[in-house]
Amino acid sequence: MIEQSKEVLKNTFGYDNFRPLQQEVINQVLQKNDALVIMPTGGGKSICYQIPALLFDGLTIVVSPLISLMKDQVEQLRQLDVNAVHLNSSLSPEAYGYNVRQVKKGKAKLLYVAPETLMMDRTQEMLSKIKVDCFTIDEAHCISEWGHDFRPEYRQLAEVKNQFPDAACLALTATATPRVREDIKKTLELSDTEEFIASFDRDNLFLKVADKEDPLNQVLDFLYTRKNQSGIIYCLSRRQVDELAFELEQEGYSVKPYHAGLSSRQRAINQREFIRDDVSIIVATIAFGMGINKPNVRFVMHYDMPQNIESYYQQIGRAGRDGLRSDCVLLFSYSDTQKVKYFISKKEGNEQKVAEKHLDALLKFLETRECRRIPLMSYFGEKYPNEECGMCDNCLSVDDNVEDFTIQAKKMLACVKEAGESWGKTHIINVLRGSKAQKVLENEHEKLESHGSGKEWAKGQWDQLIRMLIRQDYLSKGEHGVLQIEQKAEGILKGNENIFGTLDRTSTTMTTEEESRVGSEVEANYDEGLFEELRKKRKEIADEKGIPPYTIFPDTTLLEMAYYYPKEKEHLIALYGVGKVKLKKYGALFIGVIKNYTREHSIKENKGSIEEKVKEHAEIETYIQVGKAFNDGQSIEHLSEEHGVKDVTILKHLKDYLQDGHELRIEGITEASSLSLRQQDEVTKIYDEKGPKMLKVAYDRLNKKIGYDQLRIMQLYYMASQEK
Ligand code: ADP
Ligand code: ZN
Repeated sequence: MIEQSKEVLKNTFGYDNFRPLQQEVINQVLQKNDALVIMPTGGGKSICYQIPALLFDGLTIVVSPLISLMKDQVEQLRQLDVNAVHLNSSLSPEAYGYNVRQVKKGKAKLLYVAPETLMMDRTQEMLSKIKVDCFTIDEAHCISEWGHDFRPEYRQLAEVKNQFPDAACLALTATATPRVREDIKKTLELSDTEEFIASFDRDNLFLKVADKEDPLNQVLDFLYTRKNQSGIIYCLSRRQVDELAFELEQEGYSVKPYHAGLSSRQRAINQREFIRDDVSIIVATIAFGMGINKPNVRFVMHYDMPQNIESYYQQIGRAGRDGLRSDCVLLFSYSDTQKVKYFISKKEGNEQKVAEKHLDALLKFLETRECRRIPLMSYFGEKYPNEECGMCDNCLSVDDNVEDFTIQAKKMLACVKEAGESWGKTHIINVLRGSKAQKVLENEHEKLESHGSGKEWAKGQWDQLIRMLIRQDYLSKGEHGVLQIEQKAEGILKGNENIFGTLDRTSTTMTTEEESRVGSEVEANYDEGLFEELRKKRKEIADEKGIPPYTIFPDTTLLEMAYYYPKEKEHLIALYGVGKVKLKKYGALFIGVIKNYTREHSIKENKGSIEEKVKEHAEIETYIQVGKAFNDGQSIEHLSEEHGVKDVTILKHLKDYLQDGHELRIEGITEASSLSLRQQDEVTKIYDEKGPKMLKVAYDRLNKKIGYDQLRIMQLYYMASQEK
């Protein structure tokens, strides 16, 4: 069964590789062992029980404290044609009855259930009659009174667990504190060996702290280049939330407030609009966030100081679950600190001491000059292994924050001049970045020398530069925002002067360096226009079905489409997040958008070769097929004939299969060897000494008498027996 988990990962979920610890946890569960899994938000906990659930023939129960989370998970699984149902107080009697029947008939593979519902007699009675293979406790920290979210009903889960002695018990949480972990282990009677702890570093989150000076404008600066992005802005008070939401709305942003002062109905509406991409920004108090599974939250901003590192970490954790770069900016002020200190001074005894400790830890993080991940990780008892992360403001800060912008300033000024000093900044930036937007073509600006001369920078950076040039009197803004060259710019245009800029610590926009840090070539160079079209299509389909857009495809899938420009439906299977079911459901619709777009924009060349990508992907499939066929008794010789490749290719597939954590049928390997036992021993001795990777050494030591093919067979044999 273990072998099949990777297939399910690709075929059903559409992912090529496991994230850290997923494979280990899945193996553990498939062997019906218990596990406590501690992974940060976005680490990929759900797959740890969803894949076993699909491989077991019995039911997987998932206890979850929040109805919204249950619904979300069920919806995502339904999009994959997985039969999952939920039981809780929000369902109508009809829906409830239907779900119960799905469970009773053995049709449902996963049952999400609220703890109160699970304890009810009729649920117990239903479950006593069916085979349960896995008992999952999501958000397991709710068991602990030390946690921030203790739920008394969770305490009773230990007893329920004992009702399913044949099921694996899997507890999952993103809570990092040791005390809570211990509590969970004790309550559920789990041993240390059953604990799986992932690193808490979220390396796709960019961390930035800015001095809070003129917060509204700082927020506006930050948002300026993020028109279509989803994000959360946290404030301390309800009043502040309402004010800021109002201001942002005035500025034309799509924004809704969220705090405990709103009716629960209104809160639900606002949250739903955010999840469905009807609203981009939520301004909220800490009341917002639990139960939000939205993977494409691109930024989290702290308008006010968070209460402590733990809540800060939890809040920024809501950004970038999909693994794409996301920005976390905190506005830090001395007077906020004083306010917090004042509150602490009102507390007493131990409580006061604890609060002081929390504040100290937070200040250490905020005031540090070293990489921010060092104090952050150390708070959670993890040592950050590097000196720099390259994904925080401190790691990328330039001495004195002064940078030389001469090259880009010259490009910008030349472009403004060449276009006749009669255009606003959006158009100028488009020209610089080589856009083929209608307005560019209509004015034949694609023929300008400056067209495409500034592709190295993102829009936001050009925008920042324009503001700097205006500040320094090189440019001015005329009527309708038309950019004009000032006298002072002549020296730059002639090339005999330099421009330096200061980016002070109040800046909430990203510097060139900061902006450039993205995880992949795809993220750096996808086609923004196509991405927007694909997003529109996704939203259209989602609205028709009344589901959140991300359950159709995550952003990453759309980014890859906007990078590879696939034109055959079958090619989509190689992309992130595309499994068989979604390919069938949505493939054609998205291919249609891509074809139209590439035709309209006369795009012939792919940025990345989709053929390569498809080939890579096919190889992943092949080595799994080969590995399985081999274990089923097929010989290496037979497999090479069947696949029309050389033996060594089959050996390579088997090696990949082995290195993926599968076991190999050892007898089948030696069968393929034509060496005598004595020769086999000789080779093994060399591998013992030098390790099995040193083929050339072995070849030479054996006086070149044993060929590489034979050495490879022995290598595989050696590695496979070590795995045992
Ligand atoms: P958590 O519950 O730990 O916060 P999720 O299970 O919601 O995390 O996973 C976060 C995101 O990562 C989801 O969008 C999920 O589909 C995706 N994901 C999970 N595992 C993988 C994987 N192996 N490869 C790529 N994406 C993955
Ligand atoms: Zn850093």
